[in-house]
Amino acid sequence: MQDDRDGNTRALSTLCVHGGEERDAQGGVHTPLYNHSTFGFPNTKALLDVVEGRVEGNLYTRYGMNPTIRATERKLALLEGAEGALVFSSGMAAESAVFLAHCKAGDHIVCVGDVYGGTYELLHSQLPGLGIQTTFLLGNEAGRLAGALNERTRIVFFETPTNPAMEVIDIAKVAGAARAGGVLTVVDNTFASPVNQSPLKLGADLVVHSTTKYLGGHSDLTGGAVLGPRALLATIWPWRKNLGQTMAAETAFMLSRSLRTLTVRVRQHNANALAVAEFLAAHPKIKQVNYPGLKSFAGHEAAARQMRGFGGMISFVYDGDAAATAAVVDRLRLFTIAASLGGVESLATQPITTTHHDMDPRERARRGIVDGMVRLSIGLEDAGDLIDDLRQALG
Ligand code: PLP
Repeated sequence: MQDDRDGNTRALSTLCVHGGEERDAQGGVHTPLYNHSTFGFPNTKALLDVVEGRVEGNLYTRYGMNPTIRATERKLALLEGAEGALVFSSGMAAESAVFLAHCKAGDHIVCVGDVYGGTYELLHSQLPGLGIQTTFLLGNEAGRLAGALNERTRIVFFETPTNPAMEVIDIAKVAGAARAGGVLTVVDNTFASPVNQSPLKLGADLVVHSTTKYLGGHSDLTGGAVLGPRALLATIWPWRKNLGQTMAAETAFMLSRSLRTLTVRVRQHNANALAVAEFLAAHPKIKQVNYPGLKSFAGHEAAARQMRGFGGMISFVYDGDAAATAAVVDRLRLFTIAASLGGVESLATQPITTTHHDMDPRERARRGIVDGMVRLSIGLEDAGDLIDDLRQALG
């Protein structure tokens, strides 16, 4: 349940369909695609009213001042229970804008737990070149957060569940420790989606998404979003504008189309993944199954506290070396071997070959990202068919 623009409390599925929509005079049932790069004004006063912020209007699409982009941002904000949203050309564009806008040379970030390989590379290898250093804590070291903060720490960043080990980080606990230290908490909510988890309600300051994943949901768009209070977004907006990172209007239109079915899709991803995880957990060739919905999983209790559903992502460790594990993946027929996640089609990947390929092997070992690990993005096919496919691939 979230409040809509008129202050009514609406369930998420209602907001998915109706939230943020603005119909035009032609009577179409949802916000049209305004693919124009620029917008005209009847006179200079009307233009200045928009440029100087007295009137919310359309100006130039790279600024995000475009009705299709704004409608998508309103819908996303309603789904996350945020004051506002900014949409980006990719998830990495969204993350980099947050770091650049809220940190400067000499500042410090703490990253808790495993994160997407691109995020790790940005924090570990690129931001230090701008004088921004990151301390990396393992997920099970989250309790040491207070000791990792210093007077130059600006951001605590984490994903939950984490990629690919599916560790669950306690959002309220970490956000509480960060707030006590005067530091912003930024949560990547891509894996859970707003259907399963609301980090802002648990104390996070900002949420980021790769909308390429569940929010887009069909593996046919690339985008990102940052959500939170208007004051924090206002610092990010000029960076998005001047780095030219704004989501294209065409992509925003596609994203809004996808968001209308988000609850239906994610609830089915949740149900399919639980069935697959239970099958894998009982299989003799599988050493470990990482899925927050399994009662036997270490993070289950924390997940049950902060999640409404456990998501469509699973990782497991096969009882074999890298080559034997690759052979299992290669035998899959319904799962496509591909990076990415969150689409209607099921995907499988060995993290050592894709998302964590470029991570130093010692660092991978420290994080438990072993050669036998396989990550599954469970799609919307029939769960029985997916289980049959895994059964034949595992021999
Ligand atoms: N965050 C997570 C959890 C991801 O899995 C990814 C990509 O896989 C990203 C962020 C980056 O998103 P994008 O590829 O849209 O830039």
